[in-house]
Amino acid sequence: MLFARYHLFFGIHEFFGVFRIVRKPFVAGNWKMNLDQAGAAELVDGLLAKGLNDSVDVAVCPAFVHAASVGSRIADSVIGLGCQDVYFEAQGAFTGEISCSMLKDIGCRYVILGHSERRHVMGETDEIINKKVKVALESGLTPIVCVGETLEERESGTTMAVIESQFKGSLEGLSPEQVGEIVIAYEPVWAIGTGKVATPEQAEEVHSDLRKLLETSYNAEISAKVRIQYGGSVKPGNAADLLSQPNIDGALVGGASLKADDFAAIVTAAQS
Ligand code: PEP
Repeated sequence: MLFARYHLFFGIHEFFGVFRIVRKPFVAGNWKMNLDQAGAAELVDGLLAKGLNDSVDVAVCPAFVHAASVGSRIADSVIGLGCQDVYFEAQGAFTGEISCSMLKDIGCRYVILGHSERRHVMGETDEIINKKVKVALESGLTPIVCVGETLEERESGTTMAVIESQFKGSLEGLSPEQVGEIVIAYEPVWAIGTGKVATPEQAEEVHSDLRKLLETSYNAEISAKVRIQYGGSVKPGNAADLLSQPNIDGALVGGASLKADDFAAIVTAAQS
């Protein structure tokens, strides 16, 4: 009963033209190119055993080859299925690629797009990411659009210029309503998989600037609605401080999502 009342709070409430921000936290695990079938099953079963409730949106993003089997294990749970990428064409002669309809068909709800490893290792441009964001939205998948600066960019004082350009390039041509459906993940490249986490203040500064960018590029309602996750060496020990910042609405978790105990502890930190 208490939970039911609590959930009614999530959403956008407008009082005299001012939007009150009540965003449901969202924690997603990016398993990257890790685990075999048995390992994926063991991890997801470990998470299911934690009995997570739906006060936080939770998703796991396994490798494509494990997505269907992980999807069936979590089908009746509060854990949603995500994938780590998708191709922008609907079907046909695109060897090695996976379409949105294939992801939908196995129950996938989320797709990570523009992850820094795809930008920097696979050479994905904002233009490609933008095409993927558009087809994902058209197919009813929720894109988790990643933006973030390298260490060199941070040290040269261009953090927000880089993020603004990735934001605008990745979201080009979307309507405000479509932008209202996405999730943004701020992931400083220097903090991903390095153990170097942004301080809560560093992360909040960028999240708050992203929130302003949403307002100036779209409108106050969209800015109040869109969830912005932080990603980059989030662990049980630093999650609570990061997630207590006003504009940090959840986490995109790499390494720590491979351990059920650690990932569940981060979800618990998001609950409070
Ligand atoms: C990620 O890959 O999105 C990520 C944040 O990784 P890690 O948590 O390992 O830094």
